[in-house]
Amino acid sequence: MDANLPAGLVSLQARAAELAAAILAPNAERVDQDAQWPATGMRALADAGLLGLHVPRHLGGYGEGLLALSVITEELGKACGSTSMCYGMHCVATQVIAAKATPNQEERYLRPIAEGRHISSLALSEPASGVFLYLPRATFEHAGESFLLNGEKAFITSGAEADSYVVSAVAYGDEHDPSTFTCVLVDKGSEGLHWGKPWNGFGMRGNSSRSARLDNVHVPASNLLGREGDHIWYVFEVIAPFFLTAMAGTYIGIAQSALDGAIASLKGRRFAHTPEPLADNPVLAHDVAEMWLRVSRARQLTHHAAKLGDARSPEAVQALFAAKIEAADAAVEVTRIAMTVAGGRAYQDGGPLQRAMRDAQAAPVMSPTTHLLKTWLGRTALGLPPL
Ligand SMILES: Cc1cc2nc3c(=O)[nH]c(=O)nc-3n(C[C@H](O)[C@H](O)[C@H](O)COP(=O)(O)OP(=O)(O)OC[C@H]3O[C@@H](n4cnc5c(N)ncnc54)[C@H](O)[C@@H]3O)c2cc1C
Repeated sequence: MDANLPAGLVSLQARAAELAAAILAPNAERVDQDAQWPATGMRALADAGLLGLHVPRHLGGYGEGLLALSVITEELGKACGSTSMCYGMHCVATQVIAAKATPNQEERYLRPIAEGRHISSLALSEPASGVFLYLPRATFEHAGESFLLNGEKAFITSGAEADSYVVSAVAYGDEHDPSTFTCVLVDKGSEGLHWGKPWNGFGMRGNSSRSARLDNVHVPASNLLGREGDHIWYVFEVIAPFFLTAMAGTYIGIAQSALDGAIASLKGRRFAHTPEPLADNPVLAHDVAEMWLRVSRARQLTHHAAKLGDARSPEAVQALFAAKIEAADAAVEVTRIAMTVAGGRAYQDGGPLQRAMRDAQAAPVMSPTTHLLKTWLGRTALGLPPL
């Protein structure tokens, strides 16, 4: 728990924690086993007003920033990684829309989001560019009063479930020129938007992270986000900070849930030959200390990075890279240790620890991946540009 959170955020955190315990946690096993998109959890978040976390106050939202995103996603991640990821991607998409919203976009997207009537998501990744999600090959071209979109997208969280998608594309004919990178909003059900097969991931199984083909999809010109070729501004000012923070928060929540599960297991495990619970064993206390350290370090670093980001500090970029690296590492390591200290019973039974371990494995491979972030962090520490 961070004792230095602003009072308004503490009450939002409490609301998220309550909702996570009452609604997300009881549904998490079914969401995971059936690879079911978490409609009930997302409905509960909408009803609690939390979809509007980043919608400006004058449009009915909370106008919150990175710190709030890290705190809320951690609470949700403790109960259900998939719901937290769907919520996190919705929040990143909301911030992309809000960053330079036109009056038309405020009324058509941001106000409905604040009122819990609209869920959005991000369609940046592509099979053609893999982890380099800032190098799309999908194209847009002008067609009268609209844009015409073509291309292949991959891993779209809440695919076929969200109401709109922030889609990245480059100008047709200039596919090799990343400076034409442009974001537009594509509405659910748009003609020519074809979804790939249902998501059946190793973890994050409720995520519905589906591929999609854009086949001459017409998008009204009013759905352009910012200006054409806003590439650098969106990637570094909006997408990267919010994406990294949403993921860091979610994976810290998953790691915390594994730590809690391991502690409960150690306290509850007794043998016939001794009255002491396994929690009394000093070797296993070391394992608990290791888990505790990793979760606490990742949380402190993420809050620090988020505060720098909210204050528009030039040091935020490095801190945010580091936060996602640490959170991913914590999730993978803590869930691994938790599975070990909970013994063969956890291995045999399925349940929350197994789910946490599978969900955590997505952390280092979700872009920006740990590989890329370590390169970028090292380069910035060397005084070089990250890319
Ligand atoms: C659960 C989940 C949810 C997701 N949600 C979304 C979403 O909502 N929206 C979205 O747009 N995308 C999303 N993604 C996509 C994600 O961000 C990545 O783009 C995707 O996982 C890349 O997978 P790939 O197989 O194409 O990786 P590849 O690009 O094939 O990379 C494979 C491995 O090689 C490493 N690698 C590649 N190039 C380099 C290099 N130059 N230096 C060092 N290492 C390198 C990578 O780090 C990675 O470990 C999601 C992915 C997952 C798993």
